[in-house]
Amino acid sequence: MSYKAEYIWIDGTAPTAKLRSKTRILADGAPLPDWGFDGSSTNQAQGHASDRVLKPVFRCPDPIRGGDHLLVLCEVYNTDGTPHESNTRALLRQVAERFAPQEPIFGIEQEYTFFEGNRPLGFPENGYPAPQGGYYCGVGADEIFGREIVEKHLDNCLAAGLGISGINAEVMPGQWEFQVGPLAPLDVADQLWVARWLLYRTAEDFGVSATLEAKPVKGDWNGAGAHTNFSTRAMREGYDPIITACEALGADGKPLEHVKQYGSGIESRLTGLHETAPWDEYRYGVSDRGASVRIPWQVEVEKKGYIEDRRPNANVDPYVVTRLIVDTCCTALER
Ligand code: ADP
Ligand code: MN
Ligand code: MN
Ligand code: MN
Ligand code: MN
Repeated sequence: MSYKAEYIWIDGTAPTAKLRSKTRILADGAPLPDWGFDGSSTNQAQGHASDRVLKPVFRCPDPIRGGDHLLVLCEVYNTDGTPHESNTRALLRQVAERFAPQEPIFGIEQEYTFFEGNRPLGFPENGYPAPQGGYYCGVGADEIFGREIVEKHLDNCLAAGLGISGINAEVMPGQWEFQVGPLAPLDVADQLWVARWLLYRTAEDFGVSATLEAKPVKGDWNGAGAHTNFSTRAMREGYDPIITACEALGADGKPLEHVKQYGSGIESRLTGLHETAPWDEYRYGVSDRGASVRIPWQVEVEKKGYIEDRRPNANVDPYVVTRLIVDTCCTALER
């Protein structure tokens, strides 16, 4: 007998990479082999030397196909054995290993927007729906669009064994969120990428697409972010390290270095009018959802816990945001 392995990888599309996948039939019990693909079709090679290599790094049950079938997340390599330049996971591996003794963990809140044709799910054919106000965590057919897809996606993530920790309807109609974590840096990022693939794949069967675009509707409509919650063991045990981490993220040059790599279209979302401080300002505060970095109120009460970086866009690469935060905060905490 045989099983189907869906090899998934991240391509070289700029400014925001896309997920790609293809299926390999393997004999029962056979190990997952390295595989290849045509990099000239994914912005990962020129036509004259287009072979690129897929190296399996994370696997889980395939909840779409069921049975013994697998989803297989891969890193992309060149044929000379070096990581491809689009392979941001290879960079995170090094940083995660270096700071593993501090036991960093992340919970990432993935916001996204459903589209049917060229408009968000729930938007009328002409004009706009009622202004924002009732949609966030709403209930009822006048406020909620796509719940059947969201529920199916949640079930699929659970069946795959992913560390998904919740879902909620968001501020704009057709906009939703799921959370992955808390998990170690590589785990949260791998599982978020697979959860994204499952989102697209699940919605596909409903004739709906999902986008991670940061500002899918211009004007007075919320953007889509990927709040990144972070702690180290020391932060989970005391308050001084919480402040050290917040200060480290605001040190000279750091806010811009981070924000530039927090996803494409960051200026369109971090205007200062909606979810967070403007992209070119850095501010942290307790319970402050207008700040760049929020210390949750119960963290201040208990004098330990975690911080929330509210700046990353929905389309951020989780391998990049986790690497930057671990590097910046754990370097400061090491001192
Ligand atoms: P919000 O109130 O900002 O909407 P959510 O409940 O959507 O918050 O997401 C909070 C995320 O923070 C969850 O993914 C949760 O697992 C994660 N989290 C909780 N505790 C920690 C911690 N100590 N370190 C890192 N992440 C954490
Ligand atoms: Mn072919
Ligand atoms: Mn949330
Ligand atoms: Mn949210
Ligand atoms: Mn949040």
